Amino acid sequence: MTQSYVIIGDGVAGSSAAETLREEEPDANITVVTDEGEALYNRILIKEFAKGKLPEAPISIHDESWYADRDIDLELDTLVVDIDVDAHTIETHEGDVHEWDKLLVAAGGTPTQLPVENSDADGVHHFWTFEDARSIKSHIEQADSSVVVGAGLLGIDLAAITAAQDVEGKYLMRGNCWWRYALSEQGAEIIHNALRERNVEPVFQSGVDRFEVNDSGRVTTAIDPNGDEYDADFVGIAIGLDFNTEIIQDTPIEVDDGIVVDEYMQTNQQDVFAAGDITEFEDLILGERGQNGAWGSAKEQGSIAAQNMVDYGSEPFEWVSSYSITHFDFPFLSFGHPTLGDDEAEAKYSDSEWRRLAFKDGRIVGGVLIGDLSPQTKYKQLMRERRRVAGQKDVLMQQTFELDDLDAPETAAE
Ligand SMILES: Cc1cc2nc3c(=O)[nH]c(=O)nc-3n(C[C@H](O)[C@H](O)[C@H](O)COP(=O)(O)OP(=O)(O)OC[C@H]3O[C@@H](n4cnc5c(N)ncnc54)[C@H](O)[C@@H]3O)c2cc1C
Repeated sequence: MTQSYVIIGDGVAGSSAAETLREEEPDANITVVTDEGEALYNRILIKEFAKGKLPEAPISIHDESWYADRDIDLELDTLVVDIDVDAHTIETHEGDVHEWDKLLVAAGGTPTQLPVENSDADGVHHFWTFEDARSIKSHIEQADSSVVVGAGLLGIDLAAITAAQDVEGKYLMRGNCWWRYALSEQGAEIIHNALRERNVEPVFQSGVDRFEVNDSGRVTTAIDPNGDEYDADFVGIAIGLDFNTEIIQDTPIEVDDGIVVDEYMQTNQQDVFAAGDITEFEDLILGERGQNGAWGSAKEQGSIAAQNMVDYGSEPFEWVSSYSITHFDFPFLSFGHPTLGDDEAEAKYSDSEWRRLAFKDGRIVGGVLIGDLSPQTKYKQLMRERRRVAGQKDVLMQQTFELDDLDAPETAAE
């Protein structure tokens, strides 16, 4: 019997699932539904577009003919508003109902809104879609001053966009350094200096208490909790992601921080799978449930979900996620879960070379590398092998080391 697959979301997770499903099931009916008005594009590269460094065309990954060529039904500008697990249907905002034998929820997230006065004013931007990037670009090109809020991986993209567009800016952070859950002040100082060189001034122990607007409702000023005022005719906010789980709320599908799935991307409902940023998955390497917010991981999850929708149990998701930043003269990479763990080690080698590893139960669970990314392969290998190496930080922190320099592997129990 011909199987029907419905995928909610045409981000990298949904799209790679559709591609794998078609490869595995040449005769199946496959439908991809997205509320965006364009087919899959490279979300990583929209920042380069907003910086003014890339035109639109190379950012698109698939045009509509890609789906037509594979006999995949793509529904653009279509919001899924309801899932009925018993009836095996979804409903769109226009009232159309699609039946499915297997459903994949790959709906990602939406930027968290800053809950302060005037955070919805004209000139205040959040950043997730190509449409957001277009709006950011057109506005920043006219701006004289900027404020960025959110000391994480997306906040720094916004700060880099203001810098690339030669707009002087303040980068307001709540703690005493950028991405304080993954970096120490020593490591973050390399980032702070690079920002300063580009006329973006980090402001610590700050944040936003409220925005002021002019008579036309356009933002003019950010006021921080200390009462300090910063001119801002462009504001970028990146304080986190709310997962798009509203459509799951009245269903029996288990949701915790994200949609809970096993290592095969299956939810607690046999015919419902989830993939990408929206999942809280059984992380076989971490040894507990984890979440990733990275392109490569979402792509792999989409493909793994598809394989298991066709043949459950055929392929588990086992992946060390990576996220790089390319805004500066030095490379930057975070991998695994650098904000987790019960132990750590760090070392600085020069003004632009620094490293930190996070350990849990003696094993590496993540890290951050600045300046020299060459040890990443070894650290990731140790992660995959679940080797207990926290007792040998002196070796791990040597600027160059070989895996043979470590004591013989002590295989993890469990
Ligand atoms: C500016 C920016 C820079 C980034 N840089 C990097 C980077 O350098 N490296 C890296 O690894 N990662 C980066 N990321 C993160 C990476 O892009 C994401 O982790 C990845 O795209 C997640 O893919 P996804 O398919 O899970 O979700 P998404 O890409 O969010 O796709 C979900 C799709 O589902 C749609 N949708 C949601 N709800 C519904 C509904 N009810 N009905 C229909 N459609 C719906 C959404 O509109 C969206 O199109 C960046 C993200 C951004 C925004």
